[in-house]
Amino acid sequence: MHLSNEQVLELDREHVWHPYSSFLNPTPTFAVKRAEGVRLYLHDGRTLIDGMSSWWSVLHGYNHPRLNRALNEQAEAMSHVMFGGLTHEPAVRLCEKLVKHSPAGLNKVFLSDSGSVSVEVAMKMALQYWHSAGQPQKHRFIALKNAYHGDTFGAMSVCDPVTGMHHLFAENLMQQYFAERPQARFGETLQPQDIASIQHLLENKKDVAAVIVEPIVQGAGGMWMYSADYLKALRELCDKHDVLLIADEIATGFGRTGKLFACEHADISPDILCLGKTLTGGYMTLAATLCNDKVSEGICRGEAGVFMHGPTFMGNPLACAVACESIDMLLENDWQANIKRLETQLKIELDACRKLKAVADVRVLGGIGVVELHKAQALEQLQPAFVEQGIWVRPFGKLVYIMPPYCISEADLTTLTQGIYRVVSKLKS
Ligand SMILES: *Cc1c(COP(=O)(O)O)cnc(C)c1O
Repeated sequence: MHLSNEQVLELDREHVWHPYSSFLNPTPTFAVKRAEGVRLYLHDGRTLIDGMSSWWSVLHGYNHPRLNRALNEQAEAMSHVMFGGLTHEPAVRLCEKLVKHSPAGLNKVFLSDSGSVSVEVAMKMALQYWHSAGQPQKHRFIALKNAYHGDTFGAMSVCDPVTGMHHLFAENLMQQYFAERPQARFGETLQPQDIASIQHLLENKKDVAAVIVEPIVQGAGGMWMYSADYLKALRELCDKHDVLLIADEIATGFGRTGKLFACEHADISPDILCLGKTLTGGYMTLAATLCNDKVSEGICRGEAGVFMHGPTFMGNPLACAVACESIDMLLENDWQANIKRLETQLKIELDACRKLKAVADVRVLGGIGVVELHKAQALEQLQPAFVEQGIWVRPFGKLVYIMPPYCISEADLTTLTQGIYRVVSKLKS
């Protein structure tokens, strides 16, 4: 027996937490029955064009025959086995691909279940590395204001302290350092004041294990696209001050910014790299933390002699098999030309929003389009307005943004940008 749309929504309201949600003041929620390509088919019969890629993760569209096949074939062989003492083809194939295509030097891969966990793993790697090197006093992290690195405690400690509500968790949260984010936008040259804040911290704090950044695009914390020169300068500063560099490419990885990895815009390699979201093309949860030989060898020479982490579902074969197929599908096409196509169309069509009263800024990079408003808007009004336009766009505070699946057609992308224009044009300020 299937539930009706009303029954689904009623049970949902009664029992189910959603991301950043309240039971006292619930925001509108829509039940999805199925999804295919770039379309979400709602339980109530409506169809929406997806502008969010289910939070950056869907690359090739929903319900893709090739990804379905990879998943089903793997399920027939085995859905899961423990990773302690056992290994399998899907995991080793995936790790080989990740090493081959990621920035140079990242040779070792730790698989985990979600982006936040891959950040925890990256932070633990950095701490164990310095412990092994006989410098356990290097135990703090520098992050950027407006950063978002996940919701678990370690990850939360390096998220923006204001939007991350650090005061709520003050007793339990590790104290980290926060540098100003660069003001120089993507494509602009770096000014000395852009780097001054992080430079000052690196020169004066002797207890820093690593700097963690989202390269080129700060995602959930502000949708800010910054100068590649900043990353270049940051890599040099980290080397100069003997501090590790962690690149969190959970949102930017696999082509979203126009390069396979955003670090390539600056031609740098981090010491540690976090991947997630897009890794399985949006099919299931899987994340990876890559590190270079310096980090892996340092950790393994240390007191523990091993890296101290091991999730139950580490290296899940279903997720690894789908990830392999998704990466193959991306690389066998001219994905770079396709992202350029999205970028060009987003730039032209979102530009119209600039003249609207409510709009403070419009910015586009690769397959990411952002319309920043002057004022934060109530989600309970904006969300249904987008649904009425037949599009799935989930604004966050002042930010209306889209990063559609790469396979979106020109016409469907126009429906998205026009829907945004129509909704934003009705805002008073
Ligand atoms: C989404 C995100 C995370 C957290 O990933 P989850 O899978 O939600 O735990 C971390 N860093 C960045 C940059 C992200 O976009």
